[in-house]
Amino acid sequence: MIKRPKGTYDIIGEDAPFWHHFENKAKESARVFGFEEIRTPILERTELFKRSVGDETDIVQKEMYTFDDKGNRSMTLRPEGTAPVVRAFLENNLMSLGLPQKLFYMGPMFRYEKPQTGRYRQFHQFGVEIIGSSSSKADVEIIWQAKYLIESLHLHNYKFQVNHLGCSSDRLEYKKALKAYYKDHYDSLCDDCKVRYENNILRLLDCKNPHDVALKEKAPKLTEFLCDQCSAEYMTIKKQLGQLSIDYEENPFLVRGLDYYTGMVFEVKYPFSDTVLDILGGGRYDHVISELGGKDIPAVGYACGIERILSIMKEEEVEINIKPLSEIFVLGMGEEAEPYVIKIVRFLRRKGISVEHDLMGRGLRTQMKYASKIGARFTIIIGDEEINNGIYVVKDMETGNQTSVESSWIENYILDKLEE
Ligand SMILES: [Zn+2]
Ligand SMILES: [Zn+2]
Repeated sequence: MIKRPKGTYDIIGEDAPFWHHFENKAKESARVFGFEEIRTPILERTELFKRSVGDETDIVQKEMYTFDDKGNRSMTLRPEGTAPVVRAFLENNLMSLGLPQKLFYMGPMFRYEKPQTGRYRQFHQFGVEIIGSSSSKADVEIIWQAKYLIESLHLHNYKFQVNHLGCSSDRLEYKKALKAYYKDHYDSLCDDCKVRYENNILRLLDCKNPHDVALKEKAPKLTEFLCDQCSAEYMTIKKQLGQLSIDYEENPFLVRGLDYYTGMVFEVKYPFSDTVLDILGGGRYDHVISELGGKDIPAVGYACGIERILSIMKEEEVEINIKPLSEIFVLGMGEEAEPYVIKIVRFLRRKGISVEHDLMGRGLRTQMKYASKIGARFTIIIGDEEINNGIYVVKDMETGNQTSVESSWIENYILDKLEE
């Protein structure tokens, strides 16, 4: 038997309604804040991610599904959603439609990571982007929208963490200070961090190695290196969050794993079994658009991991509205009943009611079993006797009560019952 690829999974059975629930809430939260959907290809040119996500990031270095196509072009299955959105923004000249462009996306992403609980090689993200505004109001709008989404999913133990990465000269100073600090500890760093020390020292702050985590506590903090303008901007953002009663923690070591962030960054943490998950994260990326060949246009956005949010929803037993697959089952006994069955099925389906009938040539008892398995609320029974007398039996599947209904009145009877 052919098995699915490692790190992927099938969405089957009772999982599908959870996905629908999330997708509906996500779309609704986007609508309320005025975001329009954008769908980009899953496949992009490799260069797109090298130039935006950053050559030195783990994503580009180790995790991308990259291959040459038959035309010898290097292609990559998208590892994240922002770069494709920016590419589409430029390619379709969305700027001509006016700024800001407020866009959302939802779909599969691909990263070649070691599979572990809750982490997949094909995973799904929902994300929003505001392109064209440098105002701190746009930063706040993104966080506000994120909070709205999380609340609408009835998740309450979330914690927002924010930080400000400063402008490029602030970061340059900060990197120097970090280098000086870690120089004395270089030999004790993990192997990954030794490489990060040379290539991208900010990433050292993301290390999960316990020794390096402890070492970080005494490291210089980014916020100490913000220039007056960046400091003021960060203050404004925090003030506006306060006005909206959005609680947050400041985390001066929050840098996020991608190279493209500038200015405000944030994450949402959520306790899950004995760990804490990052369920959502983003920030300002003011240079990505010019990096990809556009004008100098500021932007801010976030992405959230749908699989993680769904695991939390299940663990916290968040109630979602699961409709039964079919409301009505029309049970016919024998060939004779078939035209009568089809007549009712056809009538009810045209009214938009979900109706099933037997497709297997089964007898009374197995049809009844099936009706109860699919969660039908009522089963209409049509046999010889019923046809001869013009009376059908309707069984309420919940109570087991059976009612005789005249065949000419059956459709109205069902419509009335479903409205009760
Ligand atoms: Zn600055
Ligand atoms: Zn490390």
